[in-house]
Amino acid sequence: MLLKRKEDLENGTANTESDSPMRDGSPKQAPAAPVKKPESQIKIQSVSAKQEKTPDNPSGEEVTPTTWLNNVFLESVRLDASDIHIIPEKDYTSVRFRIGGRMSDVAKWDINYHEMVISRIKIISGLSVVEKNIPQDGHLELMFETRPGDTGPSSLNFRVSTMPTINGEAAVLRVLSKETSLMTLDQVGLSEKSLYTFRKILQRGHGVILMTGHSGSGKTTTLYAALNEINAEEKVILTLEDPVEYSVPRIQQSQVNPAVGYNFSNGLRAALRQDPDVIMVGEVRDEETAGIAMRFALVGRLVLTTLHTNSISGALTRLLDMGVSKSIIASAFTGIAAQRLVRKICPSCRVESTPPYDLMKMFDIEWPADQKLYAGQGCNECGGSGFRDRIGLFEILEIDDDFRNIILQGLPISALEEYVKNHVKETLLQNGFDMVRSGQTTLEEVIRATI
Ligand SMILES: [Zn+2]
Repeated sequence: MLLKRKEDLENGTANTESDSPMRDGSPKQAPAAPVKKPESQIKIQSVSAKQEKTPDNPSGEEVTPTTWLNNVFLESVRLDASDIHIIPEKDYTSVRFRIGGRMSDVAKWDINYHEMVISRIKIISGLSVVEKNIPQDGHLELMFETRPGDTGPSSLNFRVSTMPTINGEAAVLRVLSKETSLMTLDQVGLSEKSLYTFRKILQRGHGVILMTGHSGSGKTTTLYAALNEINAEEKVILTLEDPVEYSVPRIQQSQVNPAVGYNFSNGLRAALRQDPDVIMVGEVRDEETAGIAMRFALVGRLVLTTLHTNSISGALTRLLDMGVSKSIIASAFTGIAAQRLVRKICPSCRVESTPPYDLMKMFDIEWPADQKLYAGQGCNECGGSGFRDRIGLFEILEIDDDFRNIILQGLPISALEEYVKNHVKETLLQNGFDMVRSGQTTLEEVIRATI
């Protein structure tokens, strides 16, 4: 994969770095004894700027701040980082990535080059290079020249933030959106049973489908996979998002901008006048938005949306607390799902592992002694974390008449919870245990995500 900044592409001055950033000099280890804590195996790799032959720079060529930074970008794509932190310490520049929600140290560099690196970031992000004593916010778009077989994004959008610290300026780059191939519903991690239920609800073509989960739980990715499945020629699909996370052909995507008074509720009103068959509302934040979305679903259209709650029953109580009427909730919903993300064990360094007895005891989890567990040892492919990519855990409730009655009767949350537990095909925890049994993730990950 080659890295090209959008402006470079336009000016025909694209950088053509090779695809081997931040080499790791250590030899690959053969799988050996079971590991206990793969996430603690952080490797600090270094790239020297000096003209010396090192394992990181075998040719002895000088690494310029621009080259070094491009390598950081390529490495962040390779490891699928959501944030890049370039932080000045007293004696070195530290590069840290947030991968799968967790921070890890990925590189150190000569502090004498720190100012040049920050200047380069500022220039390409449209920030003032002269201002060093105040925080600044900017934006950066990178484009990648992909080759056949590449699975990475073709472009990345970053929000760039700099801040003065006692050691110099720190820069944090957050990935806002990627131009990448969308996932299909088969790829998000739905089990066969849950996939069947989800498709059944989706195929109805009307009503509200609500995804619940905390921020970063993969809700939007799943809704996009659903949109991808119904993105047919005979349908008008419109989205209201904050921010737009994926760009999809044939779907009208609109980014709300509360700073200029364009929010979810007035955006939704305007969207309805665009004659859509399907609307995706990034998030239901207030009664007004919820009310408009549900009334739209009641006239035979499909609404996909999300709510920041931990559980299906929690979502329902939140909507009632917002002031949405019981009768609207009872009649508008066709399905509610809860989602979590767990990290997948790195396939390159997966070995058999021992059960996390302390954690199991703490949360009263039993695991059959003859059922094998796996974990990643940490290798160059996964940046030493033992994990690579993430996969969703799901719990999906198809709304039926019994459930409508429970809502209309105003039964307490305990009754809702009991109903959900008995009527979902599988709970988040059951889904997680299946993933552990099939060696896709660890028991620790499932416990952390679901309990
Ligand atoms: Zn690995």
